Amino acid sequence: MKIAIVGTGYVGLVTGTCFSEVGIDVTCVDIDKKKIDDLNNGIIPIYEPGLDDMVTRNMEKERLHFTTSIQKALEECEVIFIAVGTPPDEDGSADLQYVISVARNIGKYMKDYLLVVTKSTVPVGTAPKVRAAIEEELAARGAKIEFDVASNPEFLKEGAAVDDFLKPDRIVIGLESKRAEELMQRLYKPFTLNGHPVIFMDITSAELTKYAANSMLATKISFMNDIANLCEIVGANVNMVRKGIGSDTRIGSKFIYPGVGYGGSCFPKDVKALIKTARDYEYPLRVLQAVEEVNDHQKMVMFHKIKKHFGNDLKGRTIGMWGLSFKPNTDDMREAPALVLIHELVAAGATVKAYDPVAIPETQRIIGDKITYAKDMYDAIDGADCLLMVTEWPEFRFPDFTEVKKLLKNHVIFDGRNIYDVKEMKEQGFTYYCIGINTSRI
Ligand code: NAD
Repeated sequence: MKIAIVGTGYVGLVTGTCFSEVGIDVTCVDIDKKKIDDLNNGIIPIYEPGLDDMVTRNMEKERLHFTTSIQKALEECEVIFIAVGTPPDEDGSADLQYVISVARNIGKYMKDYLLVVTKSTVPVGTAPKVRAAIEEELAARGAKIEFDVASNPEFLKEGAAVDDFLKPDRIVIGLESKRAEELMQRLYKPFTLNGHPVIFMDITSAELTKYAANSMLATKISFMNDIANLCEIVGANVNMVRKGIGSDTRIGSKFIYPGVGYGGSCFPKDVKALIKTARDYEYPLRVLQAVEEVNDHQKMVMFHKIKKHFGNDLKGRTIGMWGLSFKPNTDDMREAPALVLIHELVAAGATVKAYDPVAIPETQRIIGDKITYAKDMYDAIDGADCLLMVTEWPEFRFPDFTEVKKLLKNHVIFDGRNIYDVKEMKEQGFTYYCIGINTSRI
């Protein structure tokens, strides 16, 4: 079977590589020539555990190809996935220009029956627009070729994307024809042999499922951050409250960790887009509006703690920052809380010296020399006024605190992910701040 994936980013590259891993002939397309040249030269443009080896192996087996030509990718292709970005527009809605542009190109160059699957996260009502764009292009060249559209939203998590794709919790597919269903069943069979369910539904429900899933997860995070802030005020310990509620199977222990707010390429934009969709239908999604508001506030919590600790004056202070990416195991900096913290700290007159195991090049690309980049975690805090923990990479979880004390000018730690133990920090002689625990009372 031959398929094509258009858009070779986090989702497209992982999707294409994993399909090729099970023996499918895959061509990945992108308009970014440098990205395609790099991939053809064995350079992987993103950091994703396990991906490099799999790309190399499947390129060597000649079943994973990279090109800038959609025309070439369409040769003998049975199924084409659209996996381009859908960034937020000014009003919060998903910008569909890249998706529609791909649909037009498909209409321009397709030769035989084709199943066109949207994997990008797109709002309700996108499938008819994709269909219309293809039909217009077919009509413009006087061609009559049958095709189907389908929606197959992606649920992979950056940092564990390969594993998630190979062993999905579920695969959601929205479609409208038996032919499309048979093709999708064939394509996903290798991933469902272990009993992972494929849930077939109508296209509108599939499109909405993706937004509902991300919004539910963002809601859990914001809820817990709100509770954490209340814990501090009333003198409760959020870690205890989290364990207390998480052991209820109806609630579950995942996604209820307080922190510096959610970021990344998906939650912020998908929450915004769903609020916008609902508004377009004159239905205000009140819960999600609050989720967003709490998250904006949460990104500032650590900044306010730092400012307060240093007597509301950060001029001339150096902040040693651990972690930049929006979560561990990725170099993705989109909407990373670290960027908000850096912006506020620098605006307040502080200097930031940061270390991240993989996200430094990407941060440099975005903010250049606004901050100093450290060569390792200890270099970041050498001579700093405090340590600010932003992303809980495994290597930050068990540092040598004697060394930390030796390097820091003041023995102060701001832990934005609650990874250290309050009592241990006190015993070690640190002034320790975290989220959801009033550490001055302990
Ligand atoms: P990305 O920005 O990493 O990649 C998008 C790629 O599409 C880029 O390489 C870009 O050059 C390419 N592109 C743009 N227009 C093109 C065109 N006309 N033809 C060919 N290529 C084109 O984006 P991503 O993170 O992979 O996200 C893609 C979609 O998947 C988005 O809708 C996103 O919301 C969704 N999604 C992302 C994740 C994630 O964790 N990143 C998870 C699930 C769903």
